[in-house]
Amino acid sequence: MSVDAPAKITILGAGPIGLEAALYARFLGYEVALYEQGRPAESIRRWGGVPLFSPFGMNSSPLGRSALAAQADDDFSLPAEDELLTGAEYVDRYLQPLAESDLLADSLHCGWKAIAVGRAGLSKSDMVDEEARRDADFIVVLVDSDGQEKIDRSDVLIDCTGLFGQASWIGGDGVPATGELAARPHVEFGLPDILVGERDKYASKHTLVIGSGYSAATNVCALGQLAREALHTQVTWITRKANQADAEGPMRRFENDSLSARDRLAVQANQLAAKTEPHVVHWPHAPVTGIHYDAHSDRFQVTLAGEKPGMHEFDRVIANVGYVPNTDLTRSLQVQYCYATEGPLKLAAKLMEPESADCLTQPTGEAQLLVNPEPDFYVLGAKSYGRNSQFLIQNGLKQIQQLFTIIGDRENLDLYRQFLPANPQ
Ligand SMILES: Cc1cc2nc3c(=O)[nH]c(=O)nc-3n(C[C@H](O)[C@H](O)[C@H](O)COP(=O)(O)OP(=O)(O)OC[C@H]3O[C@@H](n4cnc5c(N)ncnc54)[C@H](O)[C@@H]3O)c2cc1C
Repeated sequence: MSVDAPAKITILGAGPIGLEAALYARFLGYEVALYEQGRPAESIRRWGGVPLFSPFGMNSSPLGRSALAAQADDDFSLPAEDELLTGAEYVDRYLQPLAESDLLADSLHCGWKAIAVGRAGLSKSDMVDEEARRDADFIVVLVDSDGQEKIDRSDVLIDCTGLFGQASWIGGDGVPATGELAARPHVEFGLPDILVGERDKYASKHTLVIGSGYSAATNVCALGQLAREALHTQVTWITRKANQADAEGPMRRFENDSLSARDRLAVQANQLAAKTEPHVVHWPHAPVTGIHYDAHSDRFQVTLAGEKPGMHEFDRVIANVGYVPNTDLTRSLQVQYCYATEGPLKLAAKLMEPESADCLTQPTGEAQLLVNPEPDFYVLGAKSYGRNSQFLIQNGLKQIQQLFTIIGDRENLDLYRQFLPANPQ
């Protein structure tokens, strides 16, 4: 059943996908409320110094580029589509201008955190799986940093709150390692500015990096560079699993990877792991069982199992162990999350198919994969993949295009195709 403009669509989270979804909806004439707990693209601002490995053209939509070009003054120029931007450049040159654009500025409410969502007059167990639930407005409870509350009501609700809020446990068994709860505030879970802003924190120190993804690889490479420049800097990189037989190292490479920056990062990290430099070591199959922070010495004692059993000491710990989605937010809605990834079930099942191993070949699938038992409720963006780390911004843009074919019940609706330069409006 279609929801026609000017119905109201509420979108939670103004990361790249929330902003683009809001723009799409505004262009179609819907009333939009876009709530962001911090500033636009708050998550990406946290790793501003790191380059994206997908080019700007993959991280922006034809609609977004066109909206900015239409209102650009002489001082503004969009990045070229093949440009590789850092996170900060992506924010400054695209996402922030988009947030301030004519179509979005009035819809965006920054500094409001969504803490719970429900449906007016209904509990989770009312009208199980019934379409009639859509007759009740969505209710979103929001709080600002002063603790002030407000309620938003809407016809359609889109959750684009991403993943970066909640890091997984460091413990190798899926539960906190012994001592982890107390140690966590002293552990870095993201991508610190190792070579510039936080150089003093890591120079001439021994850092433990935990994790086997691109964030860990980025940190290991930056620390490797620092070790070449600052005497006595050391890096120990641990991964939970043993290296795959025949693998070049902990980082998986994809055959003929068209994201060359991604491949370069994997190659560089694997070379460091192979002990090509004296100050970097890699220990595969070394799950963490205990972690204690000693404030007096400002050092960590980390207990490992696997191939390096026993206690080891480090000055700093960076844990790039992935993120878990916050499913509490939608607890009162009828949403089914996958027992393995905690992404919405239909999409999660599709993503588990073998051809989905590389994010570039992700089956964004048919639009119906985005539909939940809760009518008119959708999860888009990184959160829609749950713990599956293969999400790319371009997958989210495809989701937006697909979603509005469902909301508007117009199978051929594709604003992105309409706004491609070869076919200007
Ligand atoms: C170092 C690094 C490099 C990367 N490189 C690439 C790349 O090259 N290409 C690529 O495609 N992807 C890349 N990614 C991944 C990409 O950044 C994410 O997939 C993308 O940001 C997801 O967008 P999103 O809008 O779904 O979520 P997010 O960007 O996480 O945005 C979610 C937003 O929701 C807000 N929010 C959260 N909870 C609430 C709440 N309760 N109420 C209100 N607001 C809330 C957050 O503050 C945030 O602004 C990279 C990631 C990292 C860490």
